[in-house]
Amino acid sequence: MEIVVGLNLTSIKPRVWDASDFTYHLPKVNAVMVSYAQFHESPTRRERAMTKGLHESLDIPKRVKIYLDNGAFRFSRAGGEVPRDTYKEFVKEAKPDWHVIPQDYIPTPHMSDEEQIECLQQTMDVNKQFNYDGFVPILHVSRYLDNYIQLFNADEKLQNKTSIAIGGIVPNLLRAPKAMSGQKILEKVYKIRETFVDKKLHLFGVGGTSTLHVAALLGMDSVDSVGWRTRAARGLIQMPGIGDRSIADLGNWKVREPNTQEMKLLEKCQCPACKKNGIDGLRKNRTVGFCNRATHNLWTLLEENRLIQEHLDADTYVDWYKDHLYNTIYRPLIDQLVKKHLEHK
Ligand SMILES: [Zn+2]
Repeated sequence: MEIVVGLNLTSIKPRVWDASDFTYHLPKVNAVMVSYAQFHESPTRRERAMTKGLHESLDIPKRVKIYLDNGAFRFSRAGGEVPRDTYKEFVKEAKPDWHVIPQDYIPTPHMSDEEQIECLQQTMDVNKQFNYDGFVPILHVSRYLDNYIQLFNADEKLQNKTSIAIGGIVPNLLRAPKAMSGQKILEKVYKIRETFVDKKLHLFGVGGTSTLHVAALLGMDSVDSVGWRTRAARGLIQMPGIGDRSIADLGNWKVREPNTQEMKLLEKCQCPACKKNGIDGLRKNRTVGFCNRATHNLWTLLEENRLIQEHLDADTYVDWYKDHLYNTIYRPLIDQLVKKHLEHK
C-alpha cells in the first residue's frame, strides 16, 4: 500500500523527499498530495506550476509522484465550488501524476437522507462528465454507497477507469452524530473492494498508524495523510502501535505524555530527526521542533506500513498485530477485518 504524503504548500518544510537533507530525508516517500485550493489561493503559485510543471515548480524530483486533490472541502467552507474550467486547465498544464475529478459533494453523516442523495447525484454527475482522460472518479462512504456503485456500473466509460478514490470515511470514523457504526463503514468499503477487483483504490484522509491497519486490511492500494503535520503542529508525536503522545507543550490537546518505558523507546528511535537531534529536538518549538516531530511522525507511519505489509505477505499478521496494536479505538474493527481476511484466504 502506498502512503501518499499530504503537503501544505504555504509551509512545505520538512522536505522529506530531498536526499541532500540528512536530517529530514525519508527515502520511502514515493508520493505526495497537494490540494488545488492552495494553487487557487495563490495566483503566482498556480502560474508557476502551470509554466514549469508541478515537479519543477515545487522542486520535487520526478521519481516522487504528485497527486492532486481538488480541494472541494476547502472551497465549500468558503461557500463555493472548485471552478471546473480552471481546474481542468491547471491539470493539463501542471501535469500531476494523479488527479481527481474537479468537484465532489461530501455527504456528511449529519445530513438528512434527501441531502445525502443530492450529494450522491451531484458527485455522480461530475464523475460522468469527467469520465475521460485521467480524471479519477470519487465514491463516498455514505448511507447510499450501494447507489453510487450501481450508477457507476451503469456508465461504460466509468467502468473502464483504472483508479477510484474513496472519500467520506473520516467523518464517519470520527463518530459524528448519525455516523454509521464502524462495522457498517467497513462493510461498505469492503464492498467497493469486492466490486472493483481490478481497480486501484485510493482512500482519502487516513490519520494515524492504527487507521493504516484498517486501510491495508480493506485492501486499499493507496492512502493519503496529513496527520504527520497536524500532529506535529500540536506538539504531538506518533508512536508505533501505541498512538499519539504529547512531547511539546503547544496547547491543551488532552494527550498523554510518554511514560518512562515509552521514553526509552523514543531514545532508540531510528528516524533521521531523532537520530540527529534526539528527544530534545522533538521538544523544540517553532519550525525546528515542528520539522523534527513531523519527520518522526511520517517515518513512524511509513515504518508501520512496511511492517503491516511484511506481516501480511508472510502470513504472520494475525499473530503479530495482537501484541503490536493496543490502546486504539479501532482495535475491535481491526479484529473483525482480520476475521474476514482469514475467511477469504
Ligand atoms: Zn523519531
